[in-house]
Amino acid sequence: MLLAELVENVALLVALATIYQIIASRTRNHGLAQPIIVGVLFGVVSILGMMTPIEFEEGLFFDGRSIILSIAGLFGGPLVAVISAIFASIYRAWLGGVGAVVGILVIIASAAIGAGFHYVKQKSDGRLTILQFFGMGFFVHVVMLAIMMLLPKGMGYRVVSELGPVIILLYPLVTMLVSLLFQDYEDQEAGRHKLHKLAYYDSLTGLPNRQYLMERLRDGLLDPAREHCRLLMLINLDRFKMLNDARGHVVGDQLLRALTERLKPLVQDGDVLARMSADEFAVLLKTPLEYLKEANVWGRQTSDKFHLSIKQPFELGEDEISISSSIGITSFPLGRDDTPSHILRRADTAMHSAKQNGGNQSVVFELDMASSAEHKYRIERELRKAIPAEELVLYLQSQVDASGKVVGAEALVRWQHPQRGLVPPLTFIPIAEESDLITELGNWTMTAACRILAREEIFSQPIRLSVNISPRHFHDPGFVSSIKHVLAMTGADPTHLTLEVTEGLLIRNINDVIAKMTQLASLGIHFSLDDFGTGYSSLSYLKRLPIHEIKIDKSFVQDAPDDADDAALVESILAVAQHMQLDVVAEGVETREQADFLNARAKVIHQGYFFHKPEPSESWIRKNYGLERDETTGQ
Ligand code: C2E
Ligand code: CA
Ligand code: CA
Repeated sequence: MLLAELVENVALLVALATIYQIIASRTRNHGLAQPIIVGVLFGVVSILGMMTPIEFEEGLFFDGRSIILSIAGLFGGPLVAVISAIFASIYRAWLGGVGAVVGILVIIASAAIGAGFHYVKQKSDGRLTILQFFGMGFFVHVVMLAIMMLLPKGMGYRVVSELGPVIILLYPLVTMLVSLLFQDYEDQEAGRHKLHKLAYYDSLTGLPNRQYLMERLRDGLLDPAREHCRLLMLINLDRFKMLNDARGHVVGDQLLRALTERLKPLVQDGDVLARMSADEFAVLLKTPLEYLKEANVWGRQTSDKFHLSIKQPFELGEDEISISSSIGITSFPLGRDDTPSHILRRADTAMHSAKQNGGNQSVVFELDMASSAEHKYRIERELRKAIPAEELVLYLQSQVDASGKVVGAEALVRWQHPQRGLVPPLTFIPIAEESDLITELGNWTMTAACRILAREEIFSQPIRLSVNISPRHFHDPGFVSSIKHVLAMTGADPTHLTLEVTEGLLIRNINDVIAKMTQLASLGIHFSLDDFGTGYSSLSYLKRLPIHEIKIDKSFVQDAPDDADDAALVESILAVAQHMQLDVVAEGVETREQADFLNARAKVIHQGYFFHKPEPSESWIRKNYGLERDETTGQ
């Protein structure tokens, strides 16, 4: 009989465990509400247990309340223990009978022992062993039997001798099993939490990640009282990729961790420091709303602290590394419809503008930046369609020797825009260079140039065509094979092709660059170093590269006859080129003076308005090689 009632009570406990899971997880972040609700729940369940008791003698009941209440204390802690014990005691008092006082004592003792074990559990990292659970059950029920002995008129002795063995055999076991059920639930919850960490935290630095920041931005916008003005700063490290390539990822990671430790103290409690991507951090700050008008000043002052801290050299092992950052700042809310992604985009726009101004500075977002970002976005979108729509046109600009004879041409792309007319490359190439669009565009130019080289009237001419290659295109893993493919497809002679590259290409993966250049050079393709003199490559660098030609930048060419410094620079470039047996192309020759200056010093190829302007490829071909050509058999 006792067994049947016990089974009923165990069933209740299992149901309780399930309800507990649901309630506890729904109320996890609700402060005091959770223990109160859980306490009431345990109290109610012990009452339910008491409703299906065995009545040993009139007014003396047995049920599972000792198990329920000890578990309430064990898993819920003191507050849950107290609340559930109060509920259960009130009900037991209301039932009355000879066992009332003893019954209430059992309730209090069970809950108290459970709460005591809760303390032990916390000390052992929130987990108890099976044996400890059993131990608690055993202890609770020995105490319970001891309390029973307090019953009057020898009743205590009778109860203990009749029910004692069953209680001591079964109740601790049940307590242990149900405890395991609860512990299992707690483990699951904990697992869901370390997962939470994965989803919201960055593993390298331990900082919150982009996802987390986006949610805090949303919270900021939802701030119902709108009492605060908030500021988002995006901190992007300057030239971090270079550092990573040069010193390796281990050093890069060390730097990021050291930087994190440095930034943490700059951020107050309640503010957020997050890591957004490899070399980008975000700081979210809050201030009373009246500061909104001064947000820009506040933003600048705050970002100055960050610049200063980031710029202090880092001691990493033997190395001392200095790094700077570009910071983009925006305040919010900006209007009623502000969204987290708008906020982020504003800060990003400002950050990029800080980068473009040379880095190591902060830029506060201003509205006209949005329109320029908008403009860039529109150009990119239109350009993507322009390539298949055949809106690009190839221009050629002649290159001539000292006598004015055409020895080649540079291929320069233009965009024949349906509304805007002929768009010069400087308005769209830099935008294309920010995405893979430049690869598509580069392939287009390459194909157009190779088609010209393969034409009958050009094929046997002793001339070269030069094609500009952007670093991003060159670094594309498929670059070499795409060039080979275009050569094969068009039938162009690779020994008539020159690829113009800039020093920007040599900044990263220099060994990869050399390998690719060498492969292409073995086909007879020449390489020309464009805009020479504007970058920082040392001439020793050049020795490692299969370069055949340098192009002196037009700024030096144009000023050389009048400016002693530029004249000296041009002279030394010419001397080195001669020493290294490189061809020299002078760009932007606009006057006879400039041409004469160059011709007096070395054998130079000229490219400039003084001789020829860029012109559509068809007219260039007709003028130079195609007098007798039949117009209808064009490419
Ligand atoms: P760049 O490679 O330095 O090309 C030379 C630029 O100087 C051309 O401008 C050319 O028209 C201009 N130029 C030539 N002679 C003179 C002169 O005597 N005086 C002055 N002031 N300028 C002269 P363009 O065609 O506007 O091209 C500008 C830049 O756009 C090019 O500079 C190149 O970096 C880029 N670009 C053009 N076409 C392509 C292409 O197909 N692919 C890539 N990646 N970039 C291209
Ligand atoms: Ca060029
Ligand atoms: Ca150039």
